[in-house]
Amino acid sequence: MGRLDKDQDLLQGILEVCRKYSVRCAEIRALGALREVEIAVYDQRRKDYLTSKKFAGDLEILNATGNVSERDGDLFCHLHVTLSRDTDNGLEVLGGHLVSGKVFACEFTLSTCDDLILRRLPDKATGLALWGDAIQLQEEPGQESEGESWQDVLSQAVEPDGAEQPSSEPEESEREAAPPDPEELQPDEAAQDLGAEWPEPEVGDWVLHPKFGRCVVERVEEGAYIQVRLPNRRLVRLGLEVVKLKLVGYEADRQVFEAILPRPGRP
Ligand code: ZN
Repeated sequence: MGRLDKDQDLLQGILEVCRKYSVRCAEIRALGALREVEIAVYDQRRKDYLTSKKFAGDLEILNATGNVSERDGDLFCHLHVTLSRDTDNGLEVLGGHLVSGKVFACEFTLSTCDDLILRRLPDKATGLALWGDAIQLQEEPGQESEGESWQDVLSQAVEPDGAEQPSSEPEESEREAAPPDPEELQPDEAAQDLGAEWPEPEVGDWVLHPKFGRCVVERVEEGAYIQVRLPNRRLVRLGLEVVKLKLVGYEADRQVFEAILPRPGRP
């Protein structure tokens, strides 16, 4: 639970809190008051938002409900608000999909899901970016860990100034590296298929890490390790023999990698 400061943007303020505390999936509830608001309504037939409407004044937040998940490799906050204001005809209630909101005062609650990432993908039927991928970050209860566990993977993300922790040698794959259809690859199988489509990361590139979020590469150590800056500003070191980096795109001439971790419990 927490509060936002006067004149902060409601959506950006929530996202800042999430980045600071490495929250990647959460339910949001909030109340308070806004000074200005921009809300939109979705036109289901045209599959587009109608022109948003702006209001200013003393706007009570009767309720704000929403969530935090991922979209286009970044955190995304989806929030709907119900507001009230005093008019000559008495109290008026308005609400909708929040585009922006200038806070007067706001108290919020974030119920976080630390073991889950929900990723928004384009949905043809609605035209919206809906949850398309759900990524479980922890071992299922009762499952015996035989290989790399998430705890092992995380323990290798050591602080650069800390003691060196060598990464374990990966098992040599006996399989012939036939080029399979990348669409059909499971992440851990894709990680074993190290070919030309796995270029080296460079300083300034982005790494989308399932646990740490969107990180920026700050140092490359001879292909064996990279140092990345987490959204919460912490610097961690990743062993590239454990964490595979798959190129998924470019952003302003920088490579964007998806970090693929070994599946928990696999031999
Ligand atoms: Zn909405």
